[in-house]
Amino acid sequence: MKKNKSEITIVGGGPVGLFLGICLSQQGIDCTILEKRAEPVQDSRSLGIHPVSLELFEKSGFVNEFLEKGISIIKGLAHDGDRILGSIDFDQFEGPFNFILACPQFYTERILLAKFQELNPDGLITEATVRRIKQSDQEVSCWYLKAGKENCIASKYIIGCDGKNSLVRKESGILYEGKQYPDTYIMGDFDDNTSYGNQAVVFLPKQGLIESFPLPDNMRRWVVKTDSYIDSPTPSILVELVQQRIGADLKGLKKTMISSFGVQNFSAENYFKDRVILCGDAAHVVSPIGGQGMNLGWIGAWLLAKALFKIKMNPEKETELLSDYQKQQKKIVKKASRRAEWNMIMGRKQLFPFLRTTMVQLILKTPLKKVALKIFTMKNLY
Ligand SMILES: Cc1cc2nc3c(=O)[nH]c(=O)nc-3n(C[C@H](O)[C@H](O)[C@H](O)COP(=O)(O)OP(=O)(O)OC[C@H]3O[C@@H](n4cnc5c(N)ncnc54)[C@H](O)[C@@H]3O)c2cc1C
Repeated sequence: MKKNKSEITIVGGGPVGLFLGICLSQQGIDCTILEKRAEPVQDSRSLGIHPVSLELFEKSGFVNEFLEKGISIIKGLAHDGDRILGSIDFDQFEGPFNFILACPQFYTERILLAKFQELNPDGLITEATVRRIKQSDQEVSCWYLKAGKENCIASKYIIGCDGKNSLVRKESGILYEGKQYPDTYIMGDFDDNTSYGNQAVVFLPKQGLIESFPLPDNMRRWVVKTDSYIDSPTPSILVELVQQRIGADLKGLKKTMISSFGVQNFSAENYFKDRVILCGDAAHVVSPIGGQGMNLGWIGAWLLAKALFKIKMNPEKETELLSDYQKQQKKIVKKASRRAEWNMIMGRKQLFPFLRTTMVQLILKTPLKKVALKIFTMKNLY
């Protein structure tokens, strides 16, 4: 459907753009999402949904859809490859969601999409690639290509939820500053032949980290630290590394995904400029070790929708309310990024592995365990 006006245009219908669209629609704010893909992602990608996000989904009235599709991780084990060093029981939390939900991104996006379309049936334009934007005092225009034709939609605000390479951010001249870490990983989903059930396991052998998470449909995600980036990842590379480091045998198992990734930490200098606002990876990227990025985007979307609702009621407070969104979200991201960095450093190849083993045991057998519990479950971020 062709539209040329919308109160708010969201560029990017990934997990963050869709959730933001839901939050805005629920507050009676008219919004349109422009998404270049035709369909939600087909693979498992981002997995970990933390209690803080489940609480937001509950407030938005659709947490059960996630609980039906995902697997509740109730315990995390630390293992040095030979023996269990300790464990963290997530059910020590207060609150209804005392677990981390493992839900593949293809389910997550489908659930969010269905909810958004229920609230705003004409609100999503797919196969729409945004190419440029132009701001004036009163509105911002966004040109996108669909079926070979250029279209334009005008709004009060454009929100860039278009990921880490955000065109919206670049077009508005907002700086994106940060660094690439030397850390690299290979990951894959395999049939689960372990006895770990609903437990996540972090293996800390001296050659570098291996993480293993339960997935729905009797599958398991394996993430393995590598010495350098692997351009053409194959299941056999991952299988061999797991075999060498911890002796687990994944040979011959059914697999559904294999990829490699590097690690970055970036943040936009500002999360808004005139009529352009940023949210999700377009505004900030943290290390995926710890599985926080998408959850951070959802927290930001929630805060931003609240700010935009207040602006609608009190337009004269626009700058103040957007500055509050930026300040609060930057603080949350900074905290989360320190936690992600700590997780990543602990997983690096160690010259003196017994020092790390002793530290992990100390943490998991003393009151410091509560701190680790907070770090792994994104508690107390705001
Ligand atoms: C290996 C790995 C594992 C991860 N695991 C987790 C995890 O377990 N938990 C977690 O919380 N986070 C995880 N993350 C981070 C997570 O993937 C991101 O934080 C999350 O996807 C950000 O969502 P987003 O909607 O902001 O951006 P994206 O997911 O990048 O979505 C952006 C959307 O914008 C669209 N788009 C882009 N440009 C345009 C354009 N010009 N016009 C129209 N549409 C456009 C894209 O098609 C896409 O749909 C992981 C990341 C990696 C690399």
